[in-house]
Amino acid sequence: MRLILLGPPGAGKGTQAQRLVERHGIPQLSTGDMLRAAVAAGTEVGKRAKAVMDAGELVSDAIVNAIVAERIDQADCANGFILDGYPRTLVQADAVQEMLAERGIGLDMAIELVVDDKALVGRIVKRADEARAAGQTVRKDDNPDVFEERLREYYKKTAALIGYYYAKGLLKQVDGMAGIDDVTKQIDAVLAVREPIS
Ligand code: AMP
Repeated sequence: MRLILLGPPGAGKGTQAQRLVERHGIPQLSTGDMLRAAVAAGTEVGKRAKAVMDAGELVSDAIVNAIVAERIDQADCANGFILDGYPRTLVQADAVQEMLAERGIGLDMAIELVVDDKALVGRIVKRADEARAAGQTVRKDDNPDVFEERLREYYKKTAALIGYYYAKGLLKQVDGMAGIDDVTKQIDAVLAVREPIS
């Protein structure tokens, strides 16, 4: 099963992706996590991405497309994967189509977590507080100012993907404002009725 989770920052994509990993035994491919790992490791990609990420802007399509193309060829992706935070632009969405077509596979579904923007800043602040309380490092971009920029980037560049996947007949929407368990149930329900795709 190859899935995309769509929705603005703070919509709960990461949380739901982790649950899908447990249930379906396929990996979560979070470009945000991969980029943060590159920054932490001080790689060339990490050096180029750091300032852009700290400002809440999007890293170049070429960088993220290359990271994902390499990742999906790893053995644990053979039975599928969950794309979390990727694609984020139309160029990336076209790149996914091409990457998968080259490998003779396709996407099963794009699931949008539909949320109310006004509630998102509160979620981000909570996520930062929880990380702090757990003694974890707080993401530099999880603060209200940078969050506003991340949200702007979402509307400028990513929201168009909703129409993109709708037009392909791949879009499913769930109420991302519901409780975490409820959102998981909604996702399970849309996955249960999907057409089997080989
Ligand atoms: P995330 O953890 O998904 O919120 O991503 C954190 C940051 O990493 C974003 O604000 C971007 O700067 C960068 N990033 C993650 N995924 C992408 C992507 N698909 N395209 C461009 N930039 C990305």
